[in-house]
Amino acid sequence: MQIYNSLTRKKEEFIPLKPGHVSMYVCGITAYDYCHIGHARSAVVFDVLVRYLRYIGMQVTFVRNFTDVDDKIINRANREGTDFESIARSYIDAFYTDMDRLGILRADIEPKATEHIKEMIELCENLIAKKHAYSTPSGDVYFRVRSYADYGKLSGRNIEDLMSGARIEPGEEKEDPLDFALWKGAKPGEPSWPSPWGPGRPGWHIECSAMSERYLPLPFDIHGGGQDLAFPHHENERAQTEAATDKQFVRYWVHNGFVQINSEKMSKSLNNFVTIRDILANYLPEVLRFFLITKHYRSPLDYTSDALEESERALKRIYLTKTAAEAHVAGTKWTATPLPAEIVVEATALEAKWDDSMADDMNTAAALGHVFVLMKIVNRILEDKTLKKSEQGRDMIRHALKLFERWGEVLGLFLMPSSDFLTQLKESRVLRRKIDTDLVQTKLQERKEARAAKDFARSDAIRDELLALGVTIQDTAQGVQWDVE
Ligand SMILES: [Zn+2]
Repeated sequence: MQIYNSLTRKKEEFIPLKPGHVSMYVCGITAYDYCHIGHARSAVVFDVLVRYLRYIGMQVTFVRNFTDVDDKIINRANREGTDFESIARSYIDAFYTDMDRLGILRADIEPKATEHIKEMIELCENLIAKKHAYSTPSGDVYFRVRSYADYGKLSGRNIEDLMSGARIEPGEEKEDPLDFALWKGAKPGEPSWPSPWGPGRPGWHIECSAMSERYLPLPFDIHGGGQDLAFPHHENERAQTEAATDKQFVRYWVHNGFVQINSEKMSKSLNNFVTIRDILANYLPEVLRFFLITKHYRSPLDYTSDALEESERALKRIYLTKTAAEAHVAGTKWTATPLPAEIVVEATALEAKWDDSMADDMNTAAALGHVFVLMKIVNRILEDKTLKKSEQGRDMIRHALKLFERWGEVLGLFLMPSSDFLTQLKESRVLRRKIDTDLVQTKLQERKEARAAKDFARSDAIRDELLALGVTIQDTAQGVQWDVE
């Protein structure tokens, strides 16, 4: 597999340090609010990466942390008149609820910052002993940025550029404006832990250095996170660990791109944060998941309701094809009838293309393109009356269904029973388009009566009225069925 390494700024062959075993750390959430679509993208990207690495036969040890003590958490707790633990706990619960709906697999190890205070203090002590850090009279500990020669390399910044924007805030006892806090002396009303520098709490960056080293051998293979974390968070993590251990920290740095909202940057000032919950109030989780991998993970992704509708239509087409395919082979068995040579060639080539796309820096956009080709092949077989009824045709359909399943396991898509997906999709569209189902039933009854009376003009008029509401109808052997466009 080729993967883009943010540190070297190029695609590299991915070769884990320990053959067949991948060690991977991804920065998790700071638990002080509901997850937004940016969190969803990062979670889905690294979920697909883990699934893919397992698909190609790697054993993956995946660590994803929770930041459960931080300024934002403490501020929220103070605003709401509660303690930071309750805030962190409730937003970690909310994280699991949202991520489970999106089909995000649990990480193998999910450490929390507050459970690793001891490791963080040890890391600070080590950095102080090596003169990479210093404590101040008020009990803060700072990292001495200029003591680590490689600082800025990961995010492509140099010390001079950083200096121009840096200053020492009133009350800070830094030697140098570039230095950042490893440990913060306790302020009144804040949670604190005892330390050699007096009661205090960890700075944000130190936790990922402490917890990754605790659970993964250094250097570990992949460190992931959103592009917004590259500076300062990942830059600082790297400086801390490499300065403390004299070892390489991470072998491949992987960053996913931003999500924009209607072509604008998502930001607190624009007040355009879209939470996962906002989206799932209107769309099925699988639709959001599908949308999030329609673009390559490093490209920006523009969230609009049109784009989500388009993903929904695409996913529906795939599930409709799967439904027809499953119905066609139901109750029949694999026969291993030799297939026509050109079909074998086409199918083999398609599988190879899919694997190549995923091996090329996890190009899910291209991989989805191949899913559509597969869908078209299935539809072609189902439309060919002779081929459809042949043993070969059925075997091909069965093989295609296996591919949907295998690829779906990697992408985390197409895994629902098709009928469940289509039923839930209809319910979701009924709600979103505010369709009055009683009215639809009344209209369908009127149409039935019109048809019984051979009043086809009336029957057609009702069909058109329903269509104007976004409701389509289909007369089947089981009676009339309706759906929402
Ligand atoms: Zn981190």
